[in-house]
Amino acid sequence: MEQLLKKYFGYDAFRPLQKEIIDAVLNRKDALVLMPTGGGKSLCFQLPALMLPGVTIVISPLIALMKDQVDSLRANGVAAEYINSSSTAAANSDVMKRLRKGEVKIVYVAPERLALADFQNFLKTINVSLFAIDEAHCISQWGHDFRPEYRSLNVLRRNFPEVPMIALTATATEKVQEDIVQQLRVTEPQIFLTSFNRPNLTYSVLPKRDAFQSTVSLLREHAGQSAIIYCFSRNETEVLSEKLRADGFKSLAYHAGMSADERSAVQDKFIGGATHIITATIAFGMGIDKPDVRLVVHYNMPKTLEGYYQETGRAGRDGLPSKCVLFFSVADKYKYSTFINEMSDEEERKKANVQLDQIFRFCALTTCRRKHLLEYFGEKADSVECATCDNCQSPVELFDATIDSQKIMSAVVRTGQRYGKGYIIDVLRGKDDEKIKARRHEELTVFGIMRDQSVHQLSQLFDFLLERGLLAMVGDKYPIIQLAPDGLTILKNRESIALPKPREKSKTREKPQKAKGNLPYDEDLFQELRQLRRSIAAEQNVPPYIIFGDVSLQAMARSVPTSRGSFAQIHGVGERKLDQYGDQFLKVINDYVSTAA
Ligand code: ADP
Ligand code: ZN
Repeated sequence: MEQLLKKYFGYDAFRPLQKEIIDAVLNRKDALVLMPTGGGKSLCFQLPALMLPGVTIVISPLIALMKDQVDSLRANGVAAEYINSSSTAAANSDVMKRLRKGEVKIVYVAPERLALADFQNFLKTINVSLFAIDEAHCISQWGHDFRPEYRSLNVLRRNFPEVPMIALTATATEKVQEDIVQQLRVTEPQIFLTSFNRPNLTYSVLPKRDAFQSTVSLLREHAGQSAIIYCFSRNETEVLSEKLRADGFKSLAYHAGMSADERSAVQDKFIGGATHIITATIAFGMGIDKPDVRLVVHYNMPKTLEGYYQETGRAGRDGLPSKCVLFFSVADKYKYSTFINEMSDEEERKKANVQLDQIFRFCALTTCRRKHLLEYFGEKADSVECATCDNCQSPVELFDATIDSQKIMSAVVRTGQRYGKGYIIDVLRGKDDEKIKARRHEELTVFGIMRDQSVHQLSQLFDFLLERGLLAMVGDKYPIIQLAPDGLTILKNRESIALPKPREKSKTREKPQKAKGNLPYDEDLFQELRQLRRSIAAEQNVPPYIIFGDVSLQAMARSVPTSRGSFAQIHGVGERKLDQYGDQFLKVINDYVSTAA
């Protein structure tokens, strides 16, 4: 098995559970595989496909992804095909002919086609060794991406009782898991569950001040690399892309309001590397298997923690260090609350409020974000190492904010719980202001009692009190600040309150974070290799990562192989790629070495 792994895929070792899963499949057991994005699920059916006598049928929801996967397999010398509505009838029937002759090891099929009686009958005439159901959560209404066509997969067990099935998903919730097993009619599958930790991703939450400038610095830090920026609305995706383009970035918008053609054009540009940045609504992502997305930004607070995990999950599929940054403001939470409170269905409203509360708590967290995420998904995270999320990188300093908080809360109460944050800050700082005078608020005892603090500092204290649920933001059109029930209790009992220290304006948490696995390599050589990769990819009309992933190029730029023998040792170099590309890449490396010498 290890030999085949190197020969076809160019890898030296299995990732956690891959070997166990492959063993189960080869022993004709049904298997359910729950692994995070980038965990290496594909290999769990691709390697068995090479070893089993007949053909492996892969069910996959997205036509765009099928082509990508098939291109990758072919680049590794595997006889792979797909049958779907994007090919001509002639091409599809050609594939069927080759299937009859036993010339194909893996074929990708869309679920709607698979369920057709004609196609089922066809399958009965060929030797099927394995069914692999990719993105298996699509079968469940409880999942985040239900596809009714997946329901028809229940015919498989009836028509092919002897053929083993492997179902794979990056969704870990128990409900979805049960649903998959039940819908597919598999009895007693072996269940394989790996940790959902993504050690190569760093998580941080930044205050949403100067979000645009902060985004620009992040993008400069990741110059030439791929980034996805998730926005709240369609309009926002367009405005942001335009601003970024004006700043010289290659950025395009993507949202559900665009035509299918426009959307796939944007996707293709992103996958091919013509555009580095996508500003998108959450409509973007399912169809994207791009392994080298280095940065995922949430320009607004995401709506749910599950969504956040899925969206950030699109970063760093190849295992290289990648960054996830979320811009957070209490105003976003307020905006969502107003939306939610307008929902007519009470059940929906309740559910949405619970979800909002969960993501809000994540944003306001002062402890490890990675552990919080994993615990949310039901993992025991005590022993998980992090050190790379913002809170682990620069632990939040707390101070005794009892007096400050009392002053702020009494100002809210004394002014009648009817004003916004800005106004109350003006009162606390003793501003000379017509409105304050007209309301006779300069006569209050709280007037000017915090004049030694800057607006910026006070604004942060307000946010912390809102985050802690001691103050609340309410109102329809203009948010006003009121005392929350917890705030009232604390104020009455004169309990002490510890809050994070407000930060100076320029010092938002932006320490560079280094994730694990970032071994040094020769950057100039890496860039030359990327250049070569780009030109081969353009020639062959495939995405660059089909030729070699960044992991392989970095390995070349690290160990600098100058012979075929040493080139063959590189991660991702199998027999086929050695033959096809070895000489070209070796020439670039040898030229580089001799000019550098
Ligand atoms: P998933 O489908 O779980 O999101 P993939 O199957 O796309 O993950 O694999 C993610 C990445 O890991 C790919 O770039 C793949 O080439 C790589 N990979 C998979 N298995 C191994 C392995 N055993 N050794 C090294 N790299 C691997
Ligand atoms: Zn952490």
